[in-house]
Amino acid sequence: MIISNPRHPRSSVFMANNKITIAVDGYSSCGKSTLSNDLAHALGYAYIDTGAMYRAVTLHCMEKGIISSTQFSVEGIVAELPHIKLAFHFNDKSEIFLNGRNVEKEIRSMEVATRVSRVSTVHEVRMQMVDQQREMGKQGGVVMDGRDIGTTVFPHAELKIFMTASEDIRIQRRKLEMESKGIKTTLEEVRKNIHQRDEDDTTRKESPLRQAEDALVLDNSNLTREQQLELALSWAKERM
Ligand code: C5P
Repeated sequence: MIISNPRHPRSSVFMANNKITIAVDGYSSCGKSTLSNDLAHALGYAYIDTGAMYRAVTLHCMEKGIISSTQFSVEGIVAELPHIKLAFHFNDKSEIFLNGRNVEKEIRSMEVATRVSRVSTVHEVRMQMVDQQREMGKQGGVVMDGRDIGTTVFPHAELKIFMTASEDIRIQRRKLEMESKGIKTTLEEVRKNIHQRDEDDTTRKESPLRQAEDALVLDNSNLTREQQLELALSWAKERM
């Protein structure tokens, strides 16, 4: 796993000696990536979008014909893992590369969204992703978002944030996000997908989505982007 980050380790807001690890977890479309990206930018940290990693594995397996609407081969997915190289490159925002190809837009498609939660239940996939995530975050100075960061990947993270937002707001946000990437969809399609993924992510056997006991809850239903950043930054500063 390669991380190239021209803005790391410069801090655009303030410098502190202690580079902490910040884990951001929560349901689908709660604004985790917006907050995590803003936090990383403000602190001069690296931002790792772990959902993008599971999505890229899913895309790769779809392209290889191992997963389709009628087919799902766990053996096939596991056999492909050695051929999947993921890397993040950072400029203004974080972008994921799959075997050297920028797939940031393709991984956001509805086809990938409907299959990724099942792929993320495969034990070998989780082991490989978690190993890479720990490697990327081992020196601190990282904001990582996902479903199991505060519970499994970095159970000792100095700051754990669990994000929530009202369902209507989450659906609107995801639709806008997809449209901004040129992907056409309907509110109903987005609603169904978010429901299904929340259900799959909270009920799976391995590393299900749940709030870590020591996580701070951030409900951003009525917060602006600036307000949520200010709140999270104040929590981070207390822990540096
Ligand atoms: O965050 P995002 O919505 O892009 O994540 C896509 C999917 O990847 C989630 O619905 C979940 O199934 C899976 N995922 C996971 N563990 C993570 C991050 C994402 O299982 N740490």
